[in-house]
Formats: sequence, C-alpha cells, structure tokens
Amino acid sequence: MIFLRNHDEIEKIRQAAQIVRKSLDEVEAAIRPGLTTWDLNEIAEKATIKLGGKPAFKGYRGFPACLCTSINNEVVHGIPRKDRVIKEGDIIGIDYGASFQGYFGDSARTVPVGFTPDGKLKDLIDSTRESLKLAIAAIKVGGFVQDISRAIDDYITPKGFGIVKDYVGHGIGTKPHEEPPIPHYVTRDRGPRLKEGMVICIEPMINMGSDEVRLLEDGWTVVTADGALSAHFEHTVAITEKGGEILSA
Ligand code: MG
Ligand code: MG
Repeated sequence: MIFLRNHDEIEKIRQAAQIVRKSLDEVEAAIRPGLTTWDLNEIAEKATIKLGGKPAFKGYRGFPACLCTSINNEVVHGIPRKDRVIKEGDIIGIDYGASFQGYFGDSARTVPVGFTPDGKLKDLIDSTRESLKLAIAAIKVGGFVQDISRAIDDYITPKGFGIVKDYVGHGIGTKPHEEPPIPHYVTRDRGPRLKEGMVICIEPMINMGSDEVRLLEDGWTVVTADGALSAHFEHTVAITEKGGEILSA
C-alpha cells in the first residue's frame, strides 16, 4: 500500500528529514583521518538526540548502530566499529535515518576523507550526486516511478559506471521503509503512478565497475563484487503539484 500524506504529515517528515540533514552535516564536518566509524556513529546519535529526534536505524531489523558507514568498495549498510579507522584517501558513505513524532526521514552522502578527489573518482561521486538531482527533477504528478529510474539510468549508464540493482529506494513515512520500491535503473515495469502526497527516498548506489554486489559475513555490509569503489547519495522527497520537493536538503 502506498500512503498519500497530507500537509501536516509531510511537515513532520520534513522535520525528521531536517534532523537527519543536520546530523549528517555534523558527521561530515567531523570526518578526518584517524577517527573510527564508531566515533561518527556517536556524533550522529548525539546530534539527533540534541535536536529532539530518535535514530531510526538503531535496532531496526537488528542493525547494531545508528549510522551506516560504508568505506570505499562498501556500497551500503556498513556497520560502525571501534576498530575501523578512516584514512586519508578513503571515501565514506554516511547513510542515516531519524524519526520525529513518529515520522521518518532518511538521507545519505559520500564524503572523501582528507583529500579532494580528481579524475574518475571525482566523476563517480559527482555523477552519483547529479543523478539524484536529475531523478528529483524528473518527478511530476501523473508520471511513473520509472521516470525516476530512467533519469538515473540514462545519465549513469553511458558513463560506464554500474548502477546497483539489488538495493533500491523506497517510500517513507510512519515507517523507515514503505512501498513503493524505487529502482535506480529502468525495469520492464513502469511502476506505480506518481501522486501528490507520496513521499519517497531516492538513493542511487553507483559503482565504478560492475553493478554486481555481495553481502559480507556480518550479514549487513554490502560490497562491490569486483572490489571497485562505490558512491551513494540519498534524499527524502515529497511529491507535490510542483514536482519533487527535497525534504532533507
Ligand atoms: Mg538511507
Ligand atoms: Mg533509504
């Protein structure tokens, strides 16, 4: 079932998404070589509590932390650890969810650790961020979920990067993950129609090599099958009569 949210509900999702955005801003500002991924987890959790929210992923389906931290060839769902130190030259995906008065927000970004990327890595990160922007611009009431998928696919595939297919975006509202699934590549099905009041998370995961991924033995961390680097950006987006409105910006 796809929920259509009224103005008040969307405002609560916006408040949750703003707590996510501010918590991620604090984590991003703190990122430097020598910190552990657990340090980043604590920064996110403290920021959210200070802002009156609750970390959404803590204990969600058994996830053992608040923040997902995915380094280099890790695609999504990396688990923060006290013995995992980030180094200069790493790229780290920080993916975070929070709730506010029973409503959820979710956002992610990929951040270089202590350096400015160039060449193909810069292209990977910039293209992933840009594909999310294009996907949001493709939203219009009366269109289809596939319009979102196609905007990403048409932009990314000619660059030779791999769009992860095994993990997709999702609806969001009173649960962190709701219907409908939002693929980041064109499938045979055009998907549900886009309606005013839908709130969705679009989160392209783009690999420098093949789109194939595998799950590590910890049961959470998803890595690229070929070991290549991967980038991830995500926003919580409301569908309005004017198009896609980012709630987590
Ligand atoms: Mg997320
Ligand atoms: Mg998400």
